[in-house]
Amino acid sequence: MSALTELYEQIRNCYKCEIAKSRTNAVPGEGPENAEIMFIGEAPGWNEDKQGRPFCGQAGQFLDHLLASINLDRKKVYIGNVIKCRPPDNRDPSPIEIQNCNPYLDRQLELIKPKMIVTLGRYSMAKFFPGKSISKIHGTAEIRNGIIYFAMYHPAAALHQGNLRKTLEDDMKKIPKILVENNDIKKEEEKPKPQEPQAKQLNMFEV
Ligand code: URA
Repeated sequence: MSALTELYEQIRNCYKCEIAKSRTNAVPGEGPENAEIMFIGEAPGWNEDKQGRPFCGQAGQFLDHLLASINLDRKKVYIGNVIKCRPPDNRDPSPIEIQNCNPYLDRQLELIKPKMIVTLGRYSMAKFFPGKSISKIHGTAEIRNGIIYFAMYHPAAALHQGNLRKTLEDDMKKIPKILVENNDIKKEEEKPKPQEPQAKQLNMFEV
């Protein structure tokens, strides 16, 4: 079992929060373990809870459209959420739920080691850009410790506020350029390993 699959098992068996009792499925996230880009939303909604997959409802369809606009297939990126269970009545995640789920998100980041993290909405922005306002920083990138952080509005925001549709489309179109400009940033696993002197094989029977 891969470390990521093991993590999914832990998430599916997690009962730290009250909302675990009302979930149909936990939604750990999905995408290749070696994805270069990781999109992080807020929390599963009704469809995601039923299917156990992130962004498979209306907001997900719009996310797919945004990805297609830059020739990205969702199978090529990793898609996760700040919290892994659906808050009832689509309420906002509570501070304790965010805190309880945080180690799972951290472990996903540790395993996937994305080159670029795209935050979708306020809750995931708050983790990576604390104290910032989405209306000010959306569409801007910051590079810290060799990782590109890029903030976007949540795709669902465009479903409620039509004027944000174009903002999301314009912000998404910046991603390929940012990746090209930072081509020298390599995913951790692609970085050449420092050459260690070859340890001499000890042979007990050597004379
Ligand atoms: N909204 C989110 O933030 N995440 C999902 O998975 C679906 C909708």
